[in-house]
Amino acid sequence: PGHGGTQNGGAGSFGVPEKGLVLPIALRAAELLRAQGATVVLTRTADVTLGLYDRGQQAEAARADLLVSIHANALPDGRDPRGIRGPEVYFTHPQAQGVAGAILAALRARLPELGAGRGLMPGADLALTRPSTQPSLLVETAYLTDPGNLRALSSPDGRERFAQAIAGGIAAYYAAQAR
Ligand SMILES: [Zn+2]
Repeated sequence: PGHGGTQNGGAGSFGVPEKGLVLPIALRAAELLRAQGATVVLTRTADVTLGLYDRGQQAEAARADLLVSIHANALPDGRDPRGIRGPEVYFTHPQAQGVAGAILAALRARLPELGAGRGLMPGADLALTRPSTQPSLLVETAYLTDPGNLRALSSPDGRERFAQAIAGGIAAYYAAQAR
């Protein structure tokens, strides 16, 4: 789950910032992956502050096969939010492209109402995705600045589908690798 503690992330609505919207999605995705036999390490399970490189260090210490950070996107103030919506998946190294594509496909299939979005964002210059210890990617699930996208992020049904899509995309990627 992105952000946490003193780092609210994007504004969200009704006083629920990004950090609070993404946490239940991450917790549920972890539960779904564990049910399929994955070992999941969560970088936070509550509203706590993490340092910029803590997530990568935790992943390295755990010898993780994959690092996934879950976020919700927002446009900067002053930009017209109309029509900017849908999922995006950021990564730096080509090794992350396959699993990024699997997660994006699952998000688009389970949450078509979000809009197709800008999709895969390779070459991202992000603290989370730059280290190459393991494939790492950052999922921008949807836009807080789009009313429809925000509704999906704020509803129990939408959150369940985000979690199903992220867990399902990861599982589909590894199942395909194993064949
Ligand atoms: Zn974020």
